[in-house]
Amino acid sequence: MSTFQAPKGTYDLIPPDSARFLAVREAISAPLKRSGYGYIETPGFENVELFARGVGESTDIVTKEMYAFETKGGDRLALRPEGTASVLRAALEANLHKAGNLPVKLWYSGSYYRYERPQKGRYRHFSQVGAEAIGAEDPALDAELIVLADDAYRSLGLREFRILLNSLGDKECRPVYRAALQEFLRGLDLDEDTLRRAEINPLRVLDDKREAVQKQLADAPLLRDYLCDACKAYHEEVRALLTAQGVAYEDDPRLVRGLDYYTRTTFEFVHDGLGSQSAVGGGGRYDGLSEMIGGPALPSVGWALGVDRTVLALEAEGVTLELPAATSVFAVPLGEEARRVLFAKVTELRRAGIAADFSFGSKGLKGAMKNANRSGARFTLVVGERDLAEGVAQLKDMESGEQGPVRLDDILTTLQERLA
Ligand code: ATP
Ligand code: MG
Repeated sequence: MSTFQAPKGTYDLIPPDSARFLAVREAISAPLKRSGYGYIETPGFENVELFARGVGESTDIVTKEMYAFETKGGDRLALRPEGTASVLRAALEANLHKAGNLPVKLWYSGSYYRYERPQKGRYRHFSQVGAEAIGAEDPALDAELIVLADDAYRSLGLREFRILLNSLGDKECRPVYRAALQEFLRGLDLDEDTLRRAEINPLRVLDDKREAVQKQLADAPLLRDYLCDACKAYHEEVRALLTAQGVAYEDDPRLVRGLDYYTRTTFEFVHDGLGSQSAVGGGGRYDGLSEMIGGPALPSVGWALGVDRTVLALEAEGVTLELPAATSVFAVPLGEEARRVLFAKVTELRRAGIAADFSFGSKGLKGAMKNANRSGARFTLVVGERDLAEGVAQLKDMESGEQGPVRLDDILTTLQERLA
């Protein structure tokens, strides 16, 4: 193994590609920032117990995918595999829910870790932007979150994604469905593991990706036929609100989240250009989660969008983002005095908000101009001894090739005009 190799299932974000990741994070968070969501940041690790309860003991995430470890001090911790449990924990710890301003709306962005089999779109370290709205039960809140995710993807130029929508019922109607599904599953030809899963967590069997299993599930009872009147009305309202905002979705009666604290609205964003790792984001209502981790009843809803897969989706659709040039002006000094003068100019430009860079090290003009070209700068400033004596710099427009002297004192205003 080479020392210069990132761990399996991980990759580095490096320029220039890293700029696209930043732009995707920005684009996803922008609609949240103008919708009352405040930024929250929690640690990269938590007590393992939080995820065991908050993600679910019987989930793949907790049983197979979590990086859990014991510290030298004997604490049992885990790298965070997802964001919701941590955000809810932090909100409860800070008593945000008691400030009398519900729902508490929060957004986050960061790294997540799952020990998975690496493949395209599936990594052991990945990046999500997420949003949680804590402490309110209101179909408009569920609709808001879906609209904001849809707006985010559209603002990036993505078009070939679909929203899958379902309702998981609540503690009234779900147990009835659960029993019916269990009854159905017991009659199938399933392996030992899957049968056991059917006993502990039958809804999760619906999510089994294997074809042999899916075939047998064709006639499985559907939750939508079991929804109580309250859940039906709630779901109808979410759907109507989405439609009224012009957001297209598909009803997917088989879309599930396997745990009891997920209730009612559940949704997934899938992109058709991504092959088997097609989910770019997902979320839903989790009315029972707070109580599950020891808090008060706080009906909540949220989503998490995967940044890595969103970038892959952009590639799949051939969308190129319009990113601002990293450097607008590149300064090339020829000689020691010119270096001091130009360095001061670069500082002045930067302080005025113009992206500027400088030819460092002792290169000749040719090498320095090569760097200027690579930087992508629209303009270069070259100052030699004769220019200094005349109080000017040679300003070159790298696009047109046009070149001419500009008084040192006028450089800032000249560039401000020409870059505007
Ligand atoms: P999948 O079914 O593909 O495993 P998931 O249901 O585990 O997805 P969530 O826990 O809902 O995914 O996470 C939300 C989003 O985070 C996903 O839609 C995806 O874009 C991203 N994501 C999840 N796991 C990974 C991973 N291992 N690598 C890259 N992105 C991921
Ligand atoms: Mg997964």
